[in-house]
Amino acid sequence: MSKAYAEGPQSIIPASISNVAPEGTKVFILKLGNLEADASYFFEHANVSLKSTKDEAIVHERKNLQMYTVLIDHPISGLILYEVGPGKIGWESKWGAEILDAYCRVNKDDETQPLDIAIKNAGYDINNVKHIIIGHLHIDHAGGLEYFKGRTDVTVWVHEIELKHAVWGIATKSEIGSYLNYYIDLDLNWSTFNEQKVDIFKGLTVHLCPGHTPGLIILQINLPSDGTIIFTTDHTIFKENYENGGCKQGFLMRDHYQWYNSTQMLRRLHRDTNALVIFGHDTSTVEQVLEEKTYFN
Ligand SMILES: [Zn+2]
Repeated sequence: MSKAYAEGPQSIIPASISNVAPEGTKVFILKLGNLEADASYFFEHANVSLKSTKDEAIVHERKNLQMYTVLIDHPISGLILYEVGPGKIGWESKWGAEILDAYCRVNKDDETQPLDIAIKNAGYDINNVKHIIIGHLHIDHAGGLEYFKGRTDVTVWVHEIELKHAVWGIATKSEIGSYLNYYIDLDLNWSTFNEQKVDIFKGLTVHLCPGHTPGLIILQINLPSDGTIIFTTDHTIFKENYENGGCKQGFLMRDHYQWYNSTQMLRRLHRDTNALVIFGHDTSTVEQVLEEKTYFN
């Protein structure tokens, strides 16, 4: 397992890992399909011309994006999901041609990609999900909330800032495309918090990381055997947004000042927990993890 950017067990600060998940907790990464888009959405200066290259033909770099959910089998709190992917079969028609032209679906013949099937293939039932933690409410991370319409037994945990921003972004049309109303259903059992850091369940802690969106939260899980895993969602979309100083995001950046400070917090948390960090869409990281483990415990 790659921990290339951790500093090793000697850097662990005990208070940073004091909220430990109970024995028997299992954490699965379940793949929910792939997108492809121009690299300029993710990296500042990608695919731009320079004076010295302005007359050269440019082949635009494109990036493959892995979409996934994190399924947590928690002995005390039941089945928990961290983010839920783009939605039910047919979600592309809800995104529309313009969005799909920018973020096209690839590798779409894999019948294991719908959320309910992915959960079933891991040995669980979507009807038994009790809690959903939403890192941020963009279409490719929260569209799957449409599976839970009418499910008053499922609590959807999200930072207050993110929920307000998503509803505002849809209502004013200022963020249409990043958020859509097919899954932001006000009848869902929403539960918000507004702290910087919340120990949300035993072993699970969320941290506010604004920048990509104003109310994005990353998830820290402290496991009895495998130690700490940090899921960053799109605070860091690819490993290039983190390694070697961290390339700034491109068009998907909303607030660089806040993003920089959130990254500083993530780096300290990474050091203080000796964590494995898993980025929002880094296909190679997810493939590497899944080659080595079916689940973490
Ligand atoms: Zn995303």
